[in-house]
Amino acid sequence: MAKIYFIDVTNRDGVQTARLGLSKLQKTMINMYLNEMGIFQSEFGFPTTRHESFYLEANLELAEMGVLQPIRLGGWIRATVDDVERAFRLVPGIKHLNLSAPTSDQMIQGKFQGAKNSEDIISMMTDAVDKARACGAESIGVNAEDASRTEIDFLVGFGLAAREHGAQRLRYCDTLGYDNPFTIYESARALAETIGMPIEIHCHGDLGMAVANSLAGAKGTIDGGQDAYINTTVNGIGERAGNADLVATVLAIAKSKEFAERYELEMPVDLTKAWKISKYASYAFGVPIPINQPGVGANVFAHGSGIHADGVLKDPSNYELYSFDEVGRGGPEIVDTGSLICSGEYSGISGFRHLMGRIAVRFKDPGQAEKILELVGYANVASQMPLVEDELLFIARYPGIARKLLTLIPPE
Ligand SMILES: [Zn+2]
Repeated sequence: MAKIYFIDVTNRDGVQTARLGLSKLQKTMINMYLNEMGIFQSEFGFPTTRHESFYLEANLELAEMGVLQPIRLGGWIRATVDDVERAFRLVPGIKHLNLSAPTSDQMIQGKFQGAKNSEDIISMMTDAVDKARACGAESIGVNAEDASRTEIDFLVGFGLAAREHGAQRLRYCDTLGYDNPFTIYESARALAETIGMPIEIHCHGDLGMAVANSLAGAKGTIDGGQDAYINTTVNGIGERAGNADLVATVLAIAKSKEFAERYELEMPVDLTKAWKISKYASYAFGVPIPINQPGVGANVFAHGSGIHADGVLKDPSNYELYSFDEVGRGGPEIVDTGSLICSGEYSGISGFRHLMGRIAVRFKDPGQAEKILELVGYANVASQMPLVEDELLFIARYPGIARKLLTLIPPE
């Protein structure tokens, strides 16, 4: 039986959201948490974007060191030979890529304005796949942008051409959130059956169905005999109304009626890390978690009305589909209400020593403390918010990597 995998795209789709973004250290922390959680792949950034280069290389180094393992790190580029060449020039260590091309008539006409037709799109994509293989890419996914508004026959031709040229997956992008669970099931199933290649399901929430569509698309893919790779973002952060929320999608697979009995994850996802990654992403993006967000919202385990409260007191299963500890909640959270020392770009050594002492970091000599403080200052310049404990620990543990993450050299 085919299986379900997760590819989280917070560090690509999430960070390209209007008015939102993450520093390179914050993106790295997201990769660390995704890895801890057991997510198969992180789409970790844009290898053709110059200011990403040091970050991408540093994360590939963490993978080589065994720190970012077993998670796979994949880059996103356009499906053009130029982009492939530039990606391997700027990030020679890149191994996994998704190559994206628009497939709908709307986008082919609307974007290229008559300069390309649908046949040109296929040859542009296959040339890019050939180039990526020649450059040494170990795995290649091919993205059909706006797939949900594309004729299915064209998608089949696009997918078959990608497979013939050595791509391993076709990403079905419901770029505008136009699908519903019934239509995406049919499309995903037809593509899996006719192309004979694993399908990635990439859904947006413009009509409020991103999670439901992700499940239906995965079901269609598996019923069609292929592995399904669901794309998510942490807290559903993404373009416009956002993407399929990671935690909600994992919960939907694990807990919704009869689904998990037939459709299994290839790798177990550790839901007890849900609370931590959601809270962190909320802080780093500066976007509060809605009180009714599945799993992690403040009200998800709160009961006010008499009948519900009475029911939960007698047996939580009366009104809770899953328990708070399953999603990593229930531990104490310490909030300082008195004097507070936090990290900042202008911090000094005394406050810094106090901060690090609290998280039990010991320095071997004053020089080392100064060096870490300097890095923490740079991290603050990049994020413009006090660092959290895990970030301070990361910098103390991997100063060389942190230095790379904080290096930005604009071209001449
Ligand atoms: Zn998207």
